[in-house]
Amino acid sequence: MNSKFKEERMRFVIILILIIISCLLIYSIELILRTSILVAHFFYFPSILACLWWKKKGLIVPIFLATILIIFHLILDYGVFTLETINNFLRGISLVVVGIVVSSLSEQISRREIEFNEIMEDLKRSNEDLQQFAYVASHDLQEPLRAIVSFSQLLEDKYQDKIDTDGKEFIHFITEGAKKMNTLIKDLLSYSRITTHAQPPKLTNLEMILQDALFNLHESIKESGAVITYDKMPILKVDKTQFIQLFQNLLSNAIKFRRKEPPRIHIGLKKINSGWLFSVKDNGIGIELEYFNKLFNIFYRLHTKEEYSGTGIGLPICKKIVQRYGGKIWVESKFGKGSTFFFTIFPEKIKD
Ligand code: ADP
Repeated sequence: MNSKFKEERMRFVIILILIIISCLLIYSIELILRTSILVAHFFYFPSILACLWWKKKGLIVPIFLATILIIFHLILDYGVFTLETINNFLRGISLVVVGIVVSSLSEQISRREIEFNEIMEDLKRSNEDLQQFAYVASHDLQEPLRAIVSFSQLLEDKYQDKIDTDGKEFIHFITEGAKKMNTLIKDLLSYSRITTHAQPPKLTNLEMILQDALFNLHESIKESGAVITYDKMPILKVDKTQFIQLFQNLLSNAIKFRRKEPPRIHIGLKKINSGWLFSVKDNGIGIELEYFNKLFNIFYRLHTKEEYSGTGIGLPICKKIVQRYGGKIWVESKFGKGSTFFFTIFPEKIKD
């Protein structure tokens, strides 16, 4: 252990001595060179002049020596000069490079921003076109559909005796198909109307809105024995028709997707920052976690029409209304125990 330590110390001392010697060497070399340069300076020009004047070969040696020393001098001084220059040059280059990078980055960013804005504009335009198309298509499709339904019913009534059972069944399929299509088109129409037929928001007591929604649902409330309670509602600047629709859709779902016992529904309210958080809690059949997000997609349903009536447009409509107020809608649920639909609204952020 001790000998190892000694060995290490010895090595350290040797390295130190070597460093000192090399420093002295470098220093003395530089000293010798600088002195020689001084001497060379002293002899250089007179030697060259003498050589030119006399053109004698004997002077070539001192000229040669002096030239060599001058070259040393140049290397030495020029070396310092070059290092500094290179240093400055590199600094300059790095500044230029940084400048180029920054300017190309900002150029790229502004190009991306322009592209992004263009894409957003395109998206907005195509969204508006799509909404317009959905509105026009669903509006205009209603008329021919109505014609199909009424003429097939007319056919059934007028030619009852002449049509056999198969024929009557076929006519029945046509009528039923057309009716289903009519319902879908009507739903699509009301979905597209959220943006195309939006009313300017007005200060409204949300309790009145709830009362209207409950009135529209009174049949199903009575039939199911639902008990609906709610927190104190505020007065907010909203589109009355859309808010009735929003509450009505959520409440009718809470009643429709009930278990055997009568539905117990509570509408909760909480003030959050610049907006409001609403919740519609039920004790119904509940929803499995994997469907939480999918439910808000248009025409998405978890049950057949035979199990529960509907077309799968209620929640997408709610989502669209809430989004108009800069809010979000989501669900939390325990399968078999009940669900709570939450939504936020920020009346100041209304989009028109
Ligand atoms: P619809 O009620 O016409 O089926 P919605 O868009 O309103 O369409 O709802 C989509 C689906 O979400 C429903 O089919 C149902 O499966 C599910 N759902 C909605 N609300 C509830 C609820 N309160 N409890 C359980 N499931 C629900």
